Amino acid sequence: MFNLILFGPPGSGKGTQSEKLIAKYNLKHLSTGDLLRSEIAQKTHLGLEAKKYMDKGNLVPDEVVIGMINDALDNNRDVEGFLFDGFPRTALQAEELDELLKKKNSCIDIMLALNVSEDELIKRLVKRGETSGRSDDNNEQVIRARIMEYHKKTATVADHYQKVHKVIFVKGEGSIDEIFNRLSEEIDRLKLNDNCL
Ligand code: ADP
Repeated sequence: MFNLILFGPPGSGKGTQSEKLIAKYNLKHLSTGDLLRSEIAQKTHLGLEAKKYMDKGNLVPDEVVIGMINDALDNNRDVEGFLFDGFPRTALQAEELDELLKKKNSCIDIMLALNVSEDELIKRLVKRGETSGRSDDNNEQVIRARIMEYHKKTATVADHYQKVHKVIFVKGEGSIDEIFNRLSEEIDRLKLNDNCL
């Protein structure tokens, strides 16, 4: 298996780049944001609870997203690898993910972290709000709250993987294809090795 975390603040381009990377490397895309929005669309109990947090720009409780990821791993046993997008977002989520993968004799091979300036992030999210239909992109206060949650709780997840030398920072500004090429180069360099030993 080859397991990749695409990391970065809201608006850094994780969703866009994920779509291209899963096609190129035949990975299963696991986006907790997409999974949560699908629960909301189906009006499940989980979705309605999660929405309360998401509408404010706050993170959904760890146990909810960890449960979702656990189910997704169990339901996708025969894949070549996973691309995690928007997960893990807290230190606890990272520890739990490592445990879940260990049980499958696997691990995170690499975290690719997109670097984008704060001004550019806000600009992109406001613009996305004009067309995405996502209520959390429509309000600059909610956008700022999400970026604050990122600095408070999520940025530290990179430290977790840096301890095991698995983080590569990639410039997340430029054209979509330029960024995609930078990410692909890093993956190609790595895929030759077994990183879970
Ligand atoms: P963005 O990266 O633009 O914030 P996402 O789709 O990744 O978009 O996330 C949207 C919202 O879903 C987040 O603001 C948060 O409330 C919730 N969410 C997504 N993933 C997680 C997670 N791993 N842990 C907690 N909350 C999450």
